[in-house]
Amino acid sequence: MKPMDLASGPSPLPTQQLINELQSYGVRLVDPRAGADSRRGGAGPSDHKAMTLDGMTVMVPVHTAPAFESPYLVEKPDAFGRSRISRDGLVLGEVSFPLQPKFYGLSTADGIPYSKIAVLHGRDVLATTVLQSCIRYQSRTKTCQFCAIGQSLAAGRTIERKTPAQLAEVAKAAVELDGVKHMVMTTGTPPGKDRGAALLAESAAAVKAAVNLPIQVQCEPPDDDTWFARMFEAGADALGMHLEACTEPVRQRIMPGKAQVSVERYFSAFAAAVPVFGRGQVSTYILAGLGDTREDILSVCDRLTRMGVYPFVVPFVPISGTPLESHPTPTPAFMNSILGPLSGMLLATGLKSIEVKAGCAKCGACSALSTYERQALGRDEMRQGEMRQGDMRQGDMRQGGCA
Ligand code: SF4
Repeated sequence: MKPMDLASGPSPLPTQQLINELQSYGVRLVDPRAGADSRRGGAGPSDHKAMTLDGMTVMVPVHTAPAFESPYLVEKPDAFGRSRISRDGLVLGEVSFPLQPKFYGLSTADGIPYSKIAVLHGRDVLATTVLQSCIRYQSRTKTCQFCAIGQSLAAGRTIERKTPAQLAEVAKAAVELDGVKHMVMTTGTPPGKDRGAALLAESAAAVKAAVNLPIQVQCEPPDDDTWFARMFEAGADALGMHLEACTEPVRQRIMPGKAQVSVERYFSAFAAAVPVFGRGQVSTYILAGLGDTREDILSVCDRLTRMGVYPFVVPFVPISGTPLESHPTPTPAFMNSILGPLSGMLLATGLKSIEVKAGCAKCGACSALSTYERQALGRDEMRQGEMRQGDMRQGDMRQGGCA
């Protein structure tokens, strides 16, 4: 497919700026049934559709209220998943949609479609919510206001508890039939002090016994830090503990139940988890646009990157049917003002998404961060190349006898 030619289109935009715009505004789909990878509801950013532009696969909101007003429009894709994207009637270039994964056509022996056990995210990530219920979801006073974990369950798009055997069966098929490269296992928070770590450990062990697939597990900080080693030894390659919002007042307003686990407890958990999983293999997910200022987010990111934790900052996208469904998305300029400096912090601390073994930071589809990261890396390599050339010229001069 011809890549999107952002340089020569009628409205040229740097790729990261276009991704920021698409993730803030969403796109209008001429045929919303097109493609196979849109998802509604769930525990992570949702109501999105994966699309590839300029070689990058990104998750773009399509089922949200802002998306219906978006200046960006994508036409119904052809049989190969190819389409065109336009803004205010001007065609910007080509985009493509992942075709329906082959494993979606299979069911378990007891008749559960594989797609109700795990789904394809981005280009090559298998994602599952091991437990599709949460102690915090039942109560209006405790639930995270952005979360839709119960919606896909209520709509019959998934099952509540995925067993280790089911996950292993689906993961093996997704690797063999569709070439998935890594797996994300998240969970609603069950009752109990381990906060889902035990479920994730047994699930990771079962998948690893069936297929060699890097796995990121995602949970709240368990009460006991020994769970990090137990999850790692069970087969988890990377760990996500997601702050979502990073200041206490915003956390208490947006996620009153989860805010009972303080930001400082997250930091002590990060400090305990990094030596187990390694620098850059522990990450957190921060939703920009919930009320934290740019300075709040960057100051937390500075602290995180210095301790070896990858802060994956994504624009908040409201999900239909949640208490925040009318909350505005952050502007592209706000995202740009965070992701630019954050890419500098990643570079300075040696954290790279391509070196993450599994998970959201590696996938990168929910944020433009990895394009900023690549740009910062490219600038740095260019600067180092220029310095090397300068050194060589000085060496030549010295060899020429000027000294
Ligand atoms: S970044 Fe995470 S939540 Fe987003 S598509 Fe990739 S794996 Fe899924």
